[in-house]
Amino acid sequence: MSSFSRAIRPIVRAAAATSARPLRPAVSRVAPQIRCLSATVPRRDSEILDISEIPPTPITHLSETETLMADSVSKFASDVILPKAREMDEAETMDPAVVEQLFEQGLMGIEIPEEYGGSGMNFTAAIIAIEELARVDPSVSVMCDVHNTLCNTAFLKYGSEKLKKEWLPKLATNTVGSFCLSEPVSGSDAFAMATKATKTENGYKINGSKMWITNSMEAECFIVFANLDPSKKYKGITAFVVPKDTPGFSIAKKEKKLGIKASSTCVLNFDDVEIPADNLLGKEFEGYKYAIGLLNEGRIGIAAQMTGLALGAWENAAGYAWNDRKQFGQLIGEFQGMQHQLAQAWVEIQAARALVYNAARKKEAGEDFVLDAAMAKLKASQVAGTVSSQAVEWMGGMGFVREGLAEKYFRDSKIGAIYEGTSNIQLTTIAKQLQKTYTK
Ligand SMILES: Cc1cc2nc3c(=O)[nH]c(=O)nc-3n(C[C@H](O)[C@H](O)[C@H](O)COP(=O)(O)OP(=O)(O)OC[C@H]3O[C@@H](n4cnc5c(N)ncnc54)[C@H](O)[C@@H]3O)c2cc1C
Repeated sequence: MSSFSRAIRPIVRAAAATSARPLRPAVSRVAPQIRCLSATVPRRDSEILDISEIPPTPITHLSETETLMADSVSKFASDVILPKAREMDEAETMDPAVVEQLFEQGLMGIEIPEEYGGSGMNFTAAIIAIEELARVDPSVSVMCDVHNTLCNTAFLKYGSEKLKKEWLPKLATNTVGSFCLSEPVSGSDAFAMATKATKTENGYKINGSKMWITNSMEAECFIVFANLDPSKKYKGITAFVVPKDTPGFSIAKKEKKLGIKASSTCVLNFDDVEIPADNLLGKEFEGYKYAIGLLNEGRIGIAAQMTGLALGAWENAAGYAWNDRKQFGQLIGEFQGMQHQLAQAWVEIQAARALVYNAARKKEAGEDFVLDAAMAKLKASQVAGTVSSQAVEWMGGMGFVREGLAEKYFRDSKIGAIYEGTSNIQLTTIAKQLQKTYTK
């Protein structure tokens, strides 16, 4: 508890200053005295967590620390991000003040241990933060998600002590990170990449380009995958750390998008980008394994972004139906036709959340979570799409105009079925896992 308080003091202070009642109490929260599966410190992969003695608890029960995280991020998102969400979307830019405050609040180093200046919290805490941010703005949420679950985790899991000491304190406090895997020629087939690395006297030289890279306008630290020996095919893929100011590195184009417009997505060029040998991430030729492992975890983050989005869209429309809009002499939320749709959508959201939290808990417990992460990402993005679409209809014309946030949630939802593995790719993963189990 002390580590959490110190690391994200502003958020904790903010939480303490509010009433004990959560702002938007959609999550079932466990009383602190109840022992809870989530009350874990960050574990190393080599540690086996003995959960046999822990009584089963509902998946969405949160530990005291996680509850604090949920309440305080919810307040931070409502107070600081909500007033800027529409403006950032129209401007297709992330407000630098928002980025600064994400760092100030400790939300950019959630799993980074305190010794490196981070918040020293568990994976589920990161998932909670991503979900709460997406409830208000999915663009801010994906910035936090990619930075924490892909970039920071890459350093934590595979970085040398030198790389960790150099980068983690910065990533926790002031430096945005990016994860560069996709290319013009390689999307779903990510390992067909054309970007190459060659050895030099002092390190490596990278040539090629990356596409669709989230956070790239704001980032100063880029995890880059390149093939060091194409004769080995995908087994030649190696991961490197490229600082933004490296000669030969450039941002070629910023995409204009359907949704999550405030999140930057760019094409990056690497022309004879030379980096020292120390900037090798992990081992040569292990990059494909790192990418698979990181994306399996990252998918739970995207799933949380989608459940947060669905909750935000639902709450926005339900608030309107039950408080604001009257037709035929009564609130529109009083009509049974509306109530049934609102109820059904709520059930869908909670079902998706159960998958997300189950996947997060399984990852934390050191269990195999590949199937769970794929199911969570698939279902959460489907629910986000359906609910945000319905929410526009529930608000009628007011849902369709760019004054409120209903149409924005709808546009933002589409990306859930595309990045970190399309829905088809999730289905393929799910089918492969099932086939392994059911093949005699
Ligand atoms: C806004 C945004 C942000 C992104 N951020 C990042 C980032 O930070 N880092 C990064 O590395 N990448 C990022 N991506 C890339 C993203 O991961 C890819 O767009 C995604 O993996 C799909 O690749 P693709 O766009 O090339 O589509 P394609 O692979 O061309 O797929 C097109 C269609 O074909 C289907 N398809 C392809 N292969 C199969 C198959 N084997 N079986 C069935 N169907 C198939 C797909 O499901 C899809 O419907 C981002 C993308 C976007 C749009």
